[in-house]
Parts: sequence; C-alpha cells; structure tokens
Amino acid sequence: MPEKRILLVLPGNSGSLIERLVLLPAGYQVALASSRQAAEEQLRTNPPDILITGDPIGGGSCFELAKAALEQDAALPVILLPERHSDSLPLQALRAGFCDYLRPPAKADEVLQIVERALERRERWQKWSLQQVRSNTSSLEQRLQGLEAMQRIGHEVTSLLDLDAVLTAVVSAAVDLTHAEEGSLLLLDENSGELYMRASRNINDELAKTFRLPIRDTLAGQVLRSGQPLLINESSPQKIKTAYLVNTLIYVPLSVQERVIGVLGVDNRLNNRTFSEYHVAMVSALADYAAIAIENARLYSNTETERKKLETILTRIEDGVLVIDPDGRIMLVNRTVCDAFNLSSEMLVGKRYYEILQHPDLLDLLSEEKRHAPHRMEISLEDGRVFNAQLTPIPDIGLAITMQDITHLKELDRIKTDFVNTVSHDLRSPLTAILGYVELIDRVGPVNDMQSQFIQRVQFSVNNITTLINDLLDLGRIEAGFDVRKEVVPINTLIHYAIDSVRPRMQEKNQTLVLDVSPDLPHVLGNPVRLRQMVNNLVSNASKYTPNNGNIEVLASAEGGQIILQIVDNGPGIPGTDQPYIFDKFYRASNIPSDTPGTGLGLAIVKSIVENHQGRIWVESTVGHGTTFTVVLPVADREL
Ligand code: ADP
Repeated sequence: MPEKRILLVLPGNSGSLIERLVLLPAGYQVALASSRQAAEEQLRTNPPDILITGDPIGGGSCFELAKAALEQDAALPVILLPERHSDSLPLQALRAGFCDYLRPPAKADEVLQIVERALERRERWQKWSLQQVRSNTSSLEQRLQGLEAMQRIGHEVTSLLDLDAVLTAVVSAAVDLTHAEEGSLLLLDENSGELYMRASRNINDELAKTFRLPIRDTLAGQVLRSGQPLLINESSPQKIKTAYLVNTLIYVPLSVQERVIGVLGVDNRLNNRTFSEYHVAMVSALADYAAIAIENARLYSNTETERKKLETILTRIEDGVLVIDPDGRIMLVNRTVCDAFNLSSEMLVGKRYYEILQHPDLLDLLSEEKRHAPHRMEISLEDGRVFNAQLTPIPDIGLAITMQDITHLKELDRIKTDFVNTVSHDLRSPLTAILGYVELIDRVGPVNDMQSQFIQRVQFSVNNITTLINDLLDLGRIEAGFDVRKEVVPINTLIHYAIDSVRPRMQEKNQTLVLDVSPDLPHVLGNPVRLRQMVNNLVSNASKYTPNNGNIEVLASAEGGQIILQIVDNGPGIPGTDQPYIFDKFYRASNIPSDTPGTGLGLAIVKSIVENHQGRIWVESTVGHGTTFTVVLPVADREL
C-alpha cells in the first residue's frame, strides 16, 4: 500500500511533535503547514490523503481552510484538533464538513485510531465512486454502441438497395446490441397466413429456410396480432415452436403504416442472460428501420414494375417515341424510331442525339429555336416513308418526339391531288365553252329581262368554278415544283403591283391602307408571278375579311439576310382553334359568314409559294381585333 500523506496545520510545535512521535513511527508521510495560506498551497500542489487542522491557525480560521480543502476534494477527510475544547466545537466542525474531532490533549493512540478510520472511510468512498464511474461508463458505452449501431443501420437502410442485406444487418445489430445468442426477422406470408423467416443470425440455415410459424397460439403470432413488444425473462424455458425452447426472449412488432407485417426477435437458448426494457427499446428502433427498408423495397418494386410497364408500352407501340434529356442525351427510344433511322437502341440510348442522329429534318425539329414550344414537322426518309413528327417539351424531363407513319396518307393525298388536277384540267375546256356560248346567246337573238338575269347568274357561277379550277391547277403546279424558273425579283415593286390590283376593292369598302415598304429592300430569288400571287392573296384576304372602313397595313423590311413582310388588318380575326388549319386546302375558319365568296385554297397556295422560296409563314390573330400574316423570305444570294 502506498504511504498515506497527512497534512498537519497546527500552531506552534505541536505539529512537529505529532509528526515525530505519532505519525512517522506509524509509517505515514507528513507535511506541515503553519498558516492557512501555506496549507492551501500544499493542498493545491501536493494534495494529501488526510488534513488535520488546529484551531486557531495562522492567517485565518480552520473552518475556512476546511471549506477550501473540501471544495477541491469533496472526499478528503478533514479532522479538527483544537487547542482548547469547547462543547459547541464538535457540532460546529461536523456542520462544516469535518469528518472527525480530536479532543485536546490528543493521545497518540487516539490520533492513530481516528486517522485510520478516516483513511478507511476515504478508501470506501473512493471505491464506491470508482464503481459508480465504471457503471456509468459502461452504460454510456452501451448506449453509445446502440447509437452507433442505429446510425449504421440507418445509413444501410438508405444506401443498400438489397433488402436481404439490410434485413440481415438489422438482425445482426439486434443480436449484438442485446448480447443475445441468436436473432430472427419473421414476416407474415399473406397467402398462407404464417410467419416465415426472412433474415436470421446464428440460426442454422436449414432451419431458417424451412421455419414456419402459425400466428395462432405462438409468441410471435401474439406480437403480430397485438402489435405490442414481448419481453420474456422467465426462469423456465418458453416454447417458440415445437421443440424450440428459449430461456429469454424479446419479440417486437414490425409495423408499416399502422399494419403489423412481421416480428423482429432475439433470444437466448443456452444461457439465461436477461433482457432489459432498454434492449426492447433498441430492438424496437431496429424493427422500425427494417420496416422502412421493407416498405422502401415494396415502393421501389412497384415503381419499377410501373416503369417497366410504361417502357414496354412505349417501346412496343407503332408510333415512334424518342425522349431526350435536357443535356441532349437520348433517354428512351423505341423500335419504330430505331427502324426509321436504321440504328439499334444500344447505339442510341445514353448518347447525345446530335452525335448519332443525322436526319436534317429531325435535327431541325430539335434546333434551339424550336425546342421551347410544341412543334410539328414532316420527316421524309430515304426509303420513301414519311413521318409526322411532333416535338413536345416536357418540363424537368426534356424533349419528347412522337412520330406517326403517314406514308399512306401522303400517298392518298397524292392520288387525290392527281385526280383533282386531272378533273380540273378536263373541266376547263367545257367551262370555257359554256362561258363562250353563254356570251353568244344575246347576240343571236333578243333575250328578255328574266333571261338576261339567268345568263348573268350562269356567268357568275361559271366564273366561280373557273377560279376554283385555276386555283387548284395553280396549287397542283406549285406543289409539283413546276415553277423551277427563278430570277432575282425586286420584291418592293412586286408588292406595289400586287397591292394595286386590290386597291379598287379597298376603295369600294372605304378601307385605309398604310404602306410601309422600305424603298431599298434587297431582292429575292424567286418566281415573280408566284410571289406576286402570294402577296395578292394575303392582301385580298385582308380586304375581303375586314369590314368597311377598316384599316390594312402592309409592312416590309429587311433584317439579317431576310425580308420580313407583314399584312396586318383589324378585321374579325381567326379563332385559335382554326388557326392551325387555315393553311390547309379548302379550310375556312368557323367565324366567317357562309356566303363569303372564296374557295379555301388561297392560303394553301400562299404557303406552297412561300415554302417553294425557302421561306416561312405564320399567322397571329385575335378574334375581334384583327390578323397579322408574317412572311419571311431569304434575300437573294447575290444581294448579300
Ligand atoms: P378563302 O378563299 O376562304 O379566303 P383562304 O385560304 O384564302 O380561303 O383563307 C382560308 C380562311 O382563312 C378563310 O376562309 C378565312 O376564314 C381565314 N382568313 C384568311 N385571311 C383572313 C383575314 N385576313 N382575316 C380573317 N380571316 C382570314
């Protein structure tokens, strides 16, 4: 045993007397201090095992010294040895925290006895506090371990996609944290109504595989039905199932959205180590993790099934589907698109579309200026097939292109156009003959008023049919690309000519015409007859549909190598639902009176002419406010 050190703070030479005669011979180490300050210095620098202080002491009271000493070390035995005894002093000392009192004059054996007693007490106190610290540390360690395991499992639940791995990790953590012999995770099989072992630790593989428990009359079934944890620390073994006995056990329910779907359990079959409520809490927390993992896996598998279903639908449908992410990578492509471009889906998926897809129409559809709004375009393939491609921007996903094969419709259209052209052609001569003969009628003899009226009606109707036929034939020629002859056309002059032919009609309707055509407009490479026809049709329409006293503006300017021509009116406008179709043949908007003369071919001719000149045309219109047609034509190369 190390030598105990005693600090003596006694007046005069009494300290050294006790040291020499009593304490040193008994084997104690002694330090002497003659004042309170010296004693406090000793206490700080070289703490003793016992403090014996006199009363009075130099530099202060012994009670103050005792207070300072106990503040520094609450377990330090402080003994009072006053110079003179008074009856009140022992009680006062006790209240001040002294552990003992030596009545003066102190005898040697009394001193030793009190010192030994104080030392014993100090030792007991130290032992107790050590134990206390140890037990606190171990419970803290245990809790820390628990927290660490929870954190680890939490991480695994979120990072591991493999449900088996997560559940095995949960069972292992439950076994480790409770120091159990084995653990298992039982899930309810909805079909058989039995519990089966989904994961286990320290349980024989064969048993784990075949383990089945009814939910009636079993401990696990009881937990499943009640939803309450079960803690068994019985002295006699309990039955889990036939011939499977455990000494101690914890079963906790595994709940998903208030529904118990299984049981997580740990047990001891060989030893009798008991489980605590703390263990139940730990296993319950782990069960929650397992439940989350199972639910996540279920949701994931549902989503995956749905995704696969959608993918199958998209890849199997006859229409082409191509989805591109915001970075331009192909996310999804189906068989029809692969066939159309003669590529395999492996070559396409994940690649940037512009590195693989070469078709100019498709690239044009995906161009920066078109990809922000839905767009439609016809894509003609080398093998003769024609697709109607529709581009739709999808927020947060990218761009989707659907492609319908319209080859047969195109063919029908061609046959119809051929037929119409042939018929129109064949009708022209008889119509000319009819007109000729009708004009001759009044020359061969007098006609009465009624007859003359009828003749006029016949002429009007035949003229209408002739216009229609001329329009049809024009359209047929333009669409067939017969107008190949192109020359450098002064578009400026041409606009004026076109307007001049409409001017009388505008004057009749008292319409105001504002012309803002830049005099030095660059020239256009094109067919002058057709370009004039295009402007004429647009301006005629503006005049025709705008009521009397309306305003019409014709604006033309050049910008960035292009001529921009706008025909603006404040007429009835075109309903939004009609706008996509007004360039189709024979289409007339729903808001015009049915007796308005016209064939519905004017804008189809305009569009064909514009496209034949590599230009673009579009309409902006608001019902009740007016309409603006905008035509953009490229400037002739030699003008640039
Ligand atoms: P139509 O012979 O009927 O004028 P178009 O092809 O020239 O045939 O025009 C198609 C339809 O577009 C018209 O019937 C009309 O409904 C609408 N439309 C064309 N221009 C205008 C306009 N300036 N204002 C209002 N509606 C117009």
